[in-house]
Amino acid sequence: MSDPELPKLVLPGDYLGAAEEFLPGRGTYENRGRIYASLLGTPHLDARDRSIRVEARNGIPEIQEDDLVYARVDELKTAMAICTILSTGTSTRTVPGAPEGTVHISKAKDGYTESLSGEFAVGDIIVARVLQAHPSVKLTTAPAPLGVVAARCQVCHALLRIGPKELVCPRCGHTEHRKLAQVPRSGAPGRNDGSPP
Ligand SMILES: [Zn+2]
Repeated sequence: MSDPELPKLVLPGDYLGAAEEFLPGRGTYENRGRIYASLLGTPHLDARDRSIRVEARNGIPEIQEDDLVYARVDELKTAMAICTILSTGTSTRTVPGAPEGTVHISKAKDGYTESLSGEFAVGDIIVARVLQAHPSVKLTTAPAPLGVVAARCQVCHALLRIGPKELVCPRCGHTEHRKLAQVPRSGAPGRNDGSPP
């Protein structure tokens, strides 16, 4: 038994099949013996009971291996940072359900990390890559472009700025260290003296 020719994407009101052949499932409705999609999404046929359902496609980002995600650090444990995934790098939409992701201490940065509290602080926003998406989300911030992208002063909660070496609080002058996401240094001041090679 093969699927009828179901399109990849249907709009509300699109005809899916005859009610005498199929059962109307989730995301569909029946009208005068015909089954229609009730939402935007992908239709599926369940071969067991011949029901047709439509999986909503609202642009809800699924977290997948190798994705870049933005996450907030919620808790630092001895061996891992526990984060809430806020959005994926490929979608500006937030990830529903605020799934948890963890950065193991061995994946915080290249080389040995003595303590996660030396690299992250609770409330930091990090950009991380998904190492594993199921059953739990495991993240890495080890590669240079990954790590903390926004951090607040642990003393006064102002947003920290990148100083010459460490992060500096523009309000109270407190300096802090993080495993920062390194932005390509093309336009950065300092080393570039503008001389041709
Ligand atoms: Zn401060």
